[in-house]
Amino acid sequence: MTSLQESLHRVRQRIAQQCGVLGRDPQTVQLLAVSKTFALSAVLEAHQAGQQQFGENYIQEGVEKIVACRARSDCRDMVWHCIGPIQSNKTRLVATHFDWVHTVDRLKIAQRLSEQRPPDMPPMQICIQVNVDGGANKAGVAPDDALELGRQVAALPRLRLRGLMTIPEPAPDYASALAPHRAAKALWDHMRAAGLEMDTLSMGMSADLEAALAAGSTMVRVGSAIFGSR
Ligand SMILES: *Cc1c(COP(=O)(O)O)cnc(C)c1O
Repeated sequence: MTSLQESLHRVRQRIAQQCGVLGRDPQTVQLLAVSKTFALSAVLEAHQAGQQQFGENYIQEGVEKIVACRARSDCRDMVWHCIGPIQSNKTRLVATHFDWVHTVDRLKIAQRLSEQRPPDMPPMQICIQVNVDGGANKAGVAPDDALELGRQVAALPRLRLRGLMTIPEPAPDYASALAPHRAAKALWDHMRAAGLEMDTLSMGMSADLEAALAAGSTMVRVGSAIFGSR
């Protein structure tokens, strides 16, 4: 095993360990490997250790890796998630390459992704980004507006609403990390109770994945704990 593969293994163990503590089935948790700023070779190394889901922040960088991987017959099972901010002029690149987008926080971007999604590709899988702790200058729809945006996204023909995504402010300890994750889970429950079909709660990163899992995350996005510091 390479050191990257050992790190990946340790992250999987953290998830399994925390699921054990919580009495959760580890199968209810997806691990997204956040490969931003790392080379294609690192992606391939993780893939060789069984990692299938990858997250990228920077559109151009992500598209280059996706194109390189799609050209390989041994990488057909990879799933690519866009987890970075999307400017209007980048929606076409995203719609024609990625499988998922986690950062939809306004209708205009969703409409463009739906219009630009090629007919021969499956619907784009969408999470709405919510600014759950109200951080100034932060992306994400306000919690009070998430239900309305969720309904609008669910109605677009080439998108499939899957859930919510959050990036809370870094927290000094487990207890303070828990609060915004719990708020996100409560909002997710509320939107599901209001009739939106969603199966994904994308939250938790290298530093706070245990707290996110305790609050009910179904998808943790882990970069530095797998690939090293950026
Ligand atoms: C970089 C990033 C991550 C991974 O962060 P780490 O702390 O390296 O695990 C997860 N989600 C988003 C949106 C990111 O930008």
